[in-house]
Amino acid sequence: MKHQIERCRMVEKEKGENGDMGKVAIYPGSFDPLTYGHIDVVERGLEIFDKIIVAIAENEEKRPLFSVEERLRMVRTIFKDTPNVIVDSFKGLLVDYVGKTNAKVILRGLRATSDFEYEFHMASMNRSLNTHLDTLFMMTSKDYFFVSSRTIKEVARLGGAVEGLVPDLVVRRLKEKFKLPIPKKRQIGWDD
Ligand code: ADP
Repeated sequence: MKHQIERCRMVEKEKGENGDMGKVAIYPGSFDPLTYGHIDVVERGLEIFDKIIVAIAENEEKRPLFSVEERLRMVRTIFKDTPNVIVDSFKGLLVDYVGKTNAKVILRGLRATSDFEYEFHMASMNRSLNTHLDTLFMMTSKDYFFVSSRTIKEVARLGGAVEGLVPDLVVRRLKEKFKLPIPKKRQIGWDD
């Protein structure tokens, strides 16, 4: 309890020194590509946090379909009308990146028990690297529990419809990547 009170005082002091930044969370991930499952986590996260930093991990070992620049451009375009969402990228350890921001919380999503073990280990490791850092998990929404960037890429590559699961801009970029025909007229979308 004593520790908690001390910690609250520290946070208040930091707020005073840095101006009131409000509650900031980092939502890290590959976002290769961004799906409505990710967007749902961000939107629900904004009910809790004043600002969310969507942090795109630069990890070439994962052999991403979209380059970091392509992902940054897509995600920034999609959140261009949401000023309390900041889109950035980072290389290396997440805790090092978080240390450069004013975030105190890592936001992650959970779709199934299969996500849990990996997420539990990552959250525990991050907390051991930085004891002030907590990870908050959001359960997926019922509409998106089966949506992952990986399955979206697989389905899109084979010409399946992913409309309604990813934003229109992502549908278009996937079609471009896989050299699939793009319908001429789109009703709405995120042209950039
Ligand atoms: P990573 O490679 O770090 O897992 P992802 O882009 O696949 O990056 O996922 C980023 C975060 O978003 C993870 O916490 C993941 O569990 C979560 N996530 C992905 N898809 C969904 C979804 N459909 N619903 C809820 N959370 C999701």
